Amino acid sequence: MHSNGHFLTIDRFIRLQELGLTHLLISLDAVTSETYLKVRGRAKFNDIVKSLQDIAKYKKEHNLFFPVIRISMVETDVNTHEREEFISFFSELAEIVEVQPLVDHITEVDTDNMTTNLRCHQPWQRMQIGVKGEMSLCCAGYNAQKDFYIDLFESKSISETWQSDQAEEMRAALHRGNLKNNEYCYKCLAGRLN
Ligand code: SF4
Repeated sequence: MHSNGHFLTIDRFIRLQELGLTHLLISLDAVTSETYLKVRGRAKFNDIVKSLQDIAKYKKEHNLFFPVIRISMVETDVNTHEREEFISFFSELAEIVEVQPLVDHITEVDTDNMTTNLRCHQPWQRMQIGVKGEMSLCCAGYNAQKDFYIDLFESKSISETWQSDQAEEMRAALHRGNLKNNEYCYKCLAGRLN
């Protein structure tokens, strides 16, 4: 499950754990409330950290490995000075701490030759189900686009979607680095070079 953690409480965490959640991925982008406010625009940092501390304590007391907690930062000019402190601080509260590169979705990229040496593992690793049931193989934010998601939850099962021809074509294109039929992935990868 991906979340910004705004509504995370220890009680909700316990319920999710009882339901069998395996991974909880929280995007935080900062290790101080000042920077968090600049990046996220809401004064929620201290509440989220308090919940994460409660969860870490609960997991330790109950000897729980799952749900694995991952806390991530997208590194930008605004938060890059907190990078090392972010890793150090959240390593105490999460099994995985990740610093991700910013993907430039604004600058126009040349789409004449949509091949790339960059690779992406997401379609082999995860599936995202959007609020309207859109099932796609990544969490990059294109999920609501009709030509990006694979099917709707109401019309196809998760395993059918995971094994569908469309999913296999996407994986093959990403494996080859030839994205002529997948402009979203090409722009996503090309944006990492900017
Ligand atoms: S849009 Fe494509 S390249 Fe970008 S993260 Fe998703 S699967 Fe990977």
